Amino acid sequence: SFDIPEALVRAEIDAAALRENAAVLAKRLAPARLKCVVKANAYGHGVDLVAPVLFAAGWREFCVATIPEALQLRTLLGPDAEILAWLYGPTTDLDEAVRAGIQLGVSTVESLDRLVDAARRTGATARIHLKIDTGLGRNGLSPEALVRAFDWLRSYDEDRLAAGHSGGTDDSGPTAGIRIVGIMSHFAVADEPERPETAAQAAVFSSAHGQLRAVLDAADGRLGESDALDVHIANSPGALTLGPCPGTSARVGLSLYGLSPLEDGDAAALGLRPAMRLVSTVINLKDIPAGHGASYGLTFTAATDTRFALVPGGYGDGLPRAASNRAEVAIRGRRYPVVGRIAMDQMIIDIGSGNTEVAIGDEVVIFGPGGPSAAEWGTWADTINYEIVTQLSARVDRRLM
Ligand code: PLP
Repeated sequence: SFDIPEALVRAEIDAAALRENAAVLAKRLAPARLKCVVKANAYGHGVDLVAPVLFAAGWREFCVATIPEALQLRTLLGPDAEILAWLYGPTTDLDEAVRAGIQLGVSTVESLDRLVDAARRTGATARIHLKIDTGLGRNGLSPEALVRAFDWLRSYDEDRLAAGHSGGTDDSGPTAGIRIVGIMSHFAVADEPERPETAAQAAVFSSAHGQLRAVLDAADGRLGESDALDVHIANSPGALTLGPCPGTSARVGLSLYGLSPLEDGDAAALGLRPAMRLVSTVINLKDIPAGHGASYGLTFTAATDTRFALVPGGYGDGLPRAASNRAEVAIRGRRYPVVGRIAMDQMIIDIGSGNTEVAIGDEVVIFGPGGPSAAEWGTWADTINYEIVTQLSARVDRRLM
């Protein structure tokens, strides 16, 4: 079904699986809403394929990390998508994001000033989600910075904005400046349900939410409506392990792609199925005598006579070299080991002496339905399924199925 013959490693993206996973997750989260996380090229699945499928299925809320990702998504999905991005630097140009109606997570008081300036220059409203560090220690306002952010908001004066305002037309009411539309945080250990830190994070978040409501109410609606705040802290593990999902929405990434964020987690048991099948082709077969080595470093030596199948696919495609001599692939429904080091472009599969089942041209399932899981590749490479799918390189030909 691929019309570019030289595409040796292909990622088949199952549109129906994406739609079904989204529906299953949304049902589980309700009444909290699903935000579809499509950062990092939709976790390697191809944002240009994934986001339009989800949008066409009716999903309207999307999250990415960076502003370039957000602008790309705006181009892909048009003006009706609600797009949130939260990662940018002290010199990142925010004007374009504000002009494009991208909602931004705010993790420093200084970026509040920058967003006011961006609003003034563009005449558009900067829609903001205050991002709270409730324990992860990564991005987000620290407790101390949150106090300063609340002070900043209390003293926010729209006249400052009006001065020099170029007169934008905006539907947000008289104060086309900044609007606090949400409050967000991120869990650190929600994938380990027995740990107490998740409840502690939720409590800190809830307290920050209460304080923000008071600040907004005191501002009399000029900064946003406290009742309309979008409140979100849960990621995939939070969405799957917590009873009722806290907040009004959840930012769900990995499980949308049908993969489990939980160690030993069974995505199928949750009603999710992998949206990606990574496949290649047997391009050569050779009989190998006992004692013959395999690949760089000759880290594998055939103990007996055997047969090698050569399969395109290596670290140049994003497969982890760390899985050398550990990984398996599936050919015609049977698992075979990868022997020797995974190279930049190819790997050697030991199909066993006299194997007449495997032929040149056979499809090889590297991971996904019909083969090993991305989680197994994660185990073989001492990493997680998140990294296995996300690190697939640009050379992989991604196609919707
Ligand atoms: N929210 C934030 C801030 C993230 O960084 C991520 C991903 O790392 C997510 C949500 C989605 O997480 P997950 O893929 O576990 O659903």
